[in-house]
Amino acid sequence: MRRKVIAGNWKMNKDIHETANLIVELMDRMKDFKNQVDVIICPPYTSLVVAKSLIKDFPIKLGAQNMSQYDDGAYTGEISVTMLTAIGCQYVILGHSERRQYFKETDDLINSKVKKALSAGLTPIVCIGETLEEREAGVTDKIITTQIKGVLRELSSSEVEKIIIAYEPVWAIGTGKNATPEQANQVHKLIRKLIGQLYSWALAEKILIQYGGSMNAENAASLLSQSDIDGGLIGGASLKSDAFVTIIQAGVESPTH
Ligand code: PEP
Repeated sequence: MRRKVIAGNWKMNKDIHETANLIVELMDRMKDFKNQVDVIICPPYTSLVVAKSLIKDFPIKLGAQNMSQYDDGAYTGEISVTMLTAIGCQYVILGHSERRQYFKETDDLINSKVKKALSAGLTPIVCIGETLEEREAGVTDKIITTQIKGVLRELSSSEVEKIIIAYEPVWAIGTGKNATPEQANQVHKLIRKLIGQLYSWALAEKILIQYGGSMNAENAASLLSQSDIDGGLIGGASLKSDAFVTIIQAGVESPTH
């Protein structure tokens, strides 16, 4: 049985004061939940410490939105894995399409960050997904296959088991256009099949695959009820406590597979 994981990617939003307000609201709206799904928030780096201090006794986990592939040293502006674990982060989003698009991150680079995160006990949420041009050219499966092989290169089965994959069609991120539940589930099935072929069918059954791309309070229930969708990576709708908690509620109520 795969437990649902609902993660909020706040991107470059919320200063420390706004972070505190949003977390207080979230905790208030979540107080009757009984820990049935994993809830993660990924605020900006500057908000991680304040976020951790607020959620410390509450079932919300903390993640970062990126990290360096290097351990330490002269890398101005970068944040290392041990800086994140020292704060109490348990997750890190890697290879988000905005990192790929604006900061030229490649599957190779993402692969080295995934290895670094795993070596420090951090769970990587590894993003993959095709662009609109790729979908329209009918090469979605090819792109997903290349990305999966690239980001998981040289990882063992026991390492891959600790990873969460986020399927995020680029054309659906921040656009208000979500993949239909069936479109998304089809790609999730492909990812599971690839894991089965590359590793084992047992691992394919276990690995958590989130959907991301304009998931919101209205469409979450239908996306999360799909057989191979194990949760959501949510951008815009994670910035409002009512919408994010409605999505968490949809996760609680959706069938587990
Ligand atoms: C994201 O940034 O991972 C994302 C899915 O954003 P949005 O929900 O706003 O489309």
